[in-house]
Amino acid sequence: MQHQEILHRCFRCGYCKLPGNYVDLNCPSYAKYRFETFSPGGRMWLLYAWVNKKIEPGKRFQEIMFSCASCGNCVEHCTLPKIKDYLLEAFTAGKEELVNNGTVPPAVRDCLTKAYNHGNMYGLSKKKRGDWANGLNIEPYSDQEYLFYVGDVGSYDPRGQEIAGSVASLLKKEKISFGILGKEELCDGNDAKAMGEGELFKHLAEENIKKFNSLGVSKIITLSPHAFNAMKNDYPFLEGSITIFHYSQILERLVGNFKFKNSLETVKVTFHDPCYLGRHNMEYASVRKTLAAIPGVVPVEMDRCLQNSLCCGGGGGNVFTDILGGGPESPARSRIQEAAETGAQILAVACPVCAVMFEDAVKAGNAENNIEVKEISEIINERLA
Ligand code: SF4
Ligand code: SF4
Repeated sequence: MQHQEILHRCFRCGYCKLPGNYVDLNCPSYAKYRFETFSPGGRMWLLYAWVNKKIEPGKRFQEIMFSCASCGNCVEHCTLPKIKDYLLEAFTAGKEELVNNGTVPPAVRDCLTKAYNHGNMYGLSKKKRGDWANGLNIEPYSDQEYLFYVGDVGSYDPRGQEIAGSVASLLKKEKISFGILGKEELCDGNDAKAMGEGELFKHLAEENIKKFNSLGVSKIITLSPHAFNAMKNDYPFLEGSITIFHYSQILERLVGNFKFKNSLETVKVTFHDPCYLGRHNMEYASVRKTLAAIPGVVPVEMDRCLQNSLCCGGGGGNVFTDILGGGPESPARSRIQEAAETGAQILAVACPVCAVMFEDAVKAGNAENNIEVKEISEIINERLA
């Protein structure tokens, strides 16, 4: 197993499951289950026991491994420089061993099979991939400045589709030259990689790169921070020939041009940093600058923000497999409570996965009167003149 040599170095101090001020639990799987084995240090020792043949990779072991949301809080807060950068890679390597041995939870197996057979994590028809854009008059990509890459959640989940349409409408309003791939688009593979299916990720990345190169794409705007992360960090682009943007970085540039309504109600908004935009890519400023520039929006911060943000629980493929699961102790339920405690009326998100996770949590927790989840382009669209 890759990074096997670092497993014994973890001395279980436990700092990796906390945020920077140590007052809360910030590893989503540990926060939910409260068993040490679900914490990053616990995972290290489970993996150590497994590779040394002290335990078998049974059902419980598999569930623990796949409940990791790949959020990166442990990488941020581990106290041992010799291992911290490799923690997440070690957890992914453990999952990869399980995938290669065929010992994975059924939900993981089904999800990866769907991605393999259909090019998306939902196992839905490729032909329907561009349906979110029906009636929106969006051009297919040919030679425009940007390719708008929507991803699986934006293409197939009804809430993701709304967000894709909302972002596209702002790009159109500002006459940004962009096109989409529609039914030609393919899964970005970020979550397949996080679930340990390295070969599937490689295949998806190669197919996507082939497509982008054949079309002469030079700039991509991604809807999801997950695709942003995969393409920016894990796709073997040659010499940075394609520049990758998350749409929030484009909105930051555009927000000064929008014509907003004259009289707007003041609203408190708190922003949830998506793990794959924040901790994984250190992009914390764009959304905050955009929110601050919207008339009537009063930004407020949660205690756990920026590099201490609590994951929504959807990362690492959990939005598809639901292995981390819901319930009152789920990270999404805990996060909406934290957002409401700031006095904010709106929990702003910049990721379709976060939107889906939090809206489910608001409904499950009957919190509709406490907080509303809105994606940032929707906040802008509502306030335009
Ligand atoms: S902070 Fe690092 S050394 Fe301490 S328990 Fe976590 S992984 Fe192990
Ligand atoms: S990546 Fe996140 S969920 Fe996984 S062990 Fe680290 S802190 Fe926990």
